[in-house]
Amino acid sequence: MTYEIQPAGSHYIDGAYVEDTAGAEIPVIYAATGERIATLHAATPAIVEQALVAAEKAQAEWAKLSPRERGRVLTRAAAIMRERNHELSVLETYDTGKPLQETLVADATSGSDALEYFGGLAASLTGEHIPLGEDWVYTIREPLGVCVGIGAWNYPTQIACWKAAPALACGNAMVFKPSETTPLCALKVAEILTEAGAPAGLFNVVQGMGEVGASLVTDSRVAKVSLTGSVPTGRKVYAAAADGMKHVTMELGGKSPMLVFDDADIDNAVGGAILGNFYSSGQICSNGTRVFVQKGIKEAFLARLNERLQDAVIGDPLDETTSFGPMVSEQQMTIVQGFIEKGVAGGARLVTGGKRIDRDGWYLEPTVFADVTDDMTIAREEIFGPVMSVLDFDTEEEAIARANATEYGLSAGVFTSDLSRGHRVIGQLRAGSCFINSYNDAPVEAPFGGVKMSGVGRENSKAAIEHWSQMKSVYVRMGDVEAPF
Ligand code: NAD
Repeated sequence: MTYEIQPAGSHYIDGAYVEDTAGAEIPVIYAATGERIATLHAATPAIVEQALVAAEKAQAEWAKLSPRERGRVLTRAAAIMRERNHELSVLETYDTGKPLQETLVADATSGSDALEYFGGLAASLTGEHIPLGEDWVYTIREPLGVCVGIGAWNYPTQIACWKAAPALACGNAMVFKPSETTPLCALKVAEILTEAGAPAGLFNVVQGMGEVGASLVTDSRVAKVSLTGSVPTGRKVYAAAADGMKHVTMELGGKSPMLVFDDADIDNAVGGAILGNFYSSGQICSNGTRVFVQKGIKEAFLARLNERLQDAVIGDPLDETTSFGPMVSEQQMTIVQGFIEKGVAGGARLVTGGKRIDRDGWYLEPTVFADVTDDMTIAREEIFGPVMSVLDFDTEEEAIARANATEYGLSAGVFTSDLSRGHRVIGQLRAGSCFINSYNDAPVEAPFGGVKMSGVGRENSKAAIEHWSQMKSVYVRMGDVEAPF
C-alpha cells in the first residue's frame, strides 16, 4: 500500500487544510535516507490569526454541549485512529524515522488510548456540593478557553493526542503547533477529529519554528499553554505565559536514574536499561540514562547488556523486523556525536558503539559507557540519543543521594528483588514518573510528568483534568444578608 506523505496544506484550520506559501519553507526529511519527502510552510501571522479566531468560535459552541456529547466525539476519534493504525504508523515512521515495529504499537495506539480515556471520563467531570449548615456552596468545573499545545519531535502523534484529548474533554479548543522537525502527524489527528464529529475550529494545527510558538503563547486570547520540549525552551515559554498569567503544563527534559541492585534479576534489569536507553533510538524524555549498577553485579550486567545489544536489528525502519532506527535529524545526530566525544575525552570506558553507521540516513550505534562518574558531562546533561551511562555504587544511601543530585526530576527506576527496598528507594527518589522492576511504561491511566526542572503539571490520568479546567465556586445564602450598616 502506498501513502500520500505531502499533506493537502501545511496547516489545518477551521476543519480544513490551509496553505500560505508566504511562510518560510519547512522541508520534511526522512531520517532513514536523508531524502526530502514533503515541503510545508511556517504559519504567517495571518494564519495564526485565522487559527485563533476559529478556535475561539468553536470553543464557545463546544463548551455548550453536554460533556457526554463531547466524550462521544473523542471516543469515535479513538476508534477511527485504531482502524487506521497502520497508515498512521507508517506516517509516524516517515515523520520521525522510528521503526515501524515501534510506531505500530506506541504512537497512534497511545493517541487513541488518550482519546478513549478522556472521552470516557468527560461525562464524569462534575463539581461538588459543599454544605455550610443552612447555606451552601457549589462548584462548577469550567473549561479554560482556547489552549495552545506545542510539541517536541519524538512522538508527534502521541503528544498531539495527550494534549488534545483532555483539553477537548474539558470543553476547551486547541491550536497545536508541532515541532518543525516532525510536522506531519498532528495534521492527521486534526483530520480524524473532524471526521469523528468535532466542530470546525476545535482542533487546529499551525506549523512553524519557535517564533510561531511564541506568537501563540503571548496572544491574549490564549488561556493555557502546554509544552513538550527541552528545559531551555520551557523556561522561555513558561516566562512568556506568566506574563499573561496563563495556565501552563511543562513536559520537559530529563536525566533520569535507574538503580540496579545486586539482588536484581539481571535480564529484567538489562531489558529495562535497553528500553530506557535505546527505544526510539534513545529519543525519549523519561529515559533512564544514568544506570547505577551495584558493584557486585556490574560486570555481569555489562556482559549481558553487550550480548543483548548484538541482537538489535538496525536497518530500514519500514521493515517490521528492524528494532533500531536512525536519529530524527542530522542536527540531532551531530549533537549526540558531540556527547559521545565528550564521554571518551572525559575518561569514560566505551563498552560498545560510539560510531555513526555507514549507510544513508542519521544512524548512530547503540552506545554504552561504563565507569562513568557523576561529574562527567555525559552523566549530567540530557543527550537525547542512544547513549547509556553506567555508573557504579556501593550502598543504597549513596545511590539515592547520587541519583537525586541533578536539576532534573522526570523519571526514576529501581530494579531489586527486595520488595521493601523497591518501595523505600522509590519513595526517596525525586522524580514524577517512577518504575519498580520496569521502565518507561506510560499508560494513559497513570499521571505523567516531572518535578524540579523537568516540568510543571501532569499529563494523562484524572490528574490531567486539573490542568485543563478551572473551578468556579458559587456561595448560596439561604437566609437574609447581615451587613454592618
Ligand atoms: P525544543 O525545546 O527544541 O522544541 C519544542 C517545541 O517548542 C518545538 O515545537 C519548538 O518549535 C517550540 N519552541 C521553541 N522555541 C519556542 C518559543 N520561544 N516559544 C514557543 N515555542 C517554542 O525540543 P525538541 O528538540 O523538539 O524536543 C526534545 C526535548 O523535548 C528534549 O529535551 C526532551 O526531553 C523533551 N521532551 C519531553 C517530554 C515530556 O513529556 N517530558 C516528551 C518528549 C520530549
